[in-house]
Amino acid sequence: MARLFVSDVHLDAGTDGATDQFLDFLRTHAARAEALYILGDLFEAWIGDDDPEPEKGRILNGLNELTRDGVECFVLHGNRDFLLGEAFARRTGCRLLPDPIVADFDGERVLVTHGDALCIDDHAYQELRTTVRAAAWQRRFLALPVASREGLAHQARAGSRAHTARSVPNIMDANEVAVAAAMRATDVRRIIHGHTHRPCVHEMLLDGAPAYRIVLGAWYEQGSYLSYEAGRYELRELPRAALA
Ligand code: MN
Repeated sequence: MARLFVSDVHLDAGTDGATDQFLDFLRTHAARAEALYILGDLFEAWIGDDDPEPEKGRILNGLNELTRDGVECFVLHGNRDFLLGEAFARRTGCRLLPDPIVADFDGERVLVTHGDALCIDDHAYQELRTTVRAAAWQRRFLALPVASREGLAHQARAGSRAHTARSVPNIMDANEVAVAAAMRATDVRRIIHGHTHRPCVHEMLLDGAPAYRIVLGAWYEQGSYLSYEAGRYELRELPRAALA
């Protein structure tokens, strides 16, 4: 059976097509898989596990059905939903994994990560990341009323859009030196990540031997996932128009 990987689904109450398509993906492709790995940014924003947004409830129910049917589901934090917590895990049956993590797929060590930590050329973003990933900052944020947290998340998304618009595109890609360093440090020859929205299988040489960087796609205009089965990795697109 296959292991499936997605990231950057960016589900949001305003993107109805993506929510329905992702729920459909859970009930079809994922339901037939051995495991589903969600490599961050499943949600456009996550202000805490007490988020009352009904659209999010639909996703949580979909994930819960999947895990109840016996499909293991693993979730890494992205830069948008790094506050997914234990209540989310209990409600859905998903397991939260640390980022990065080395997985063992049929005897091959594979580095699995959201990917934002590899974008080291974006100094402003890395500074922000250090701030919001600190436990003390997160405790203070989660203690705020839901409405305040929603307001702050809205401001953060606007700030992120403005930052993306004025940045040179390459600054926001994974840095090749950082990728190589992460692979050497964990002794892997394959890395799977998302975040950059540039789906591709990159073949490269690392210290004279072949290595692979698989980048997952975002779900803004279509669905996108990676399938791994019997030693073969394959990136696949799911056209949104094909949905009934
Ligand atoms: Mn991201």
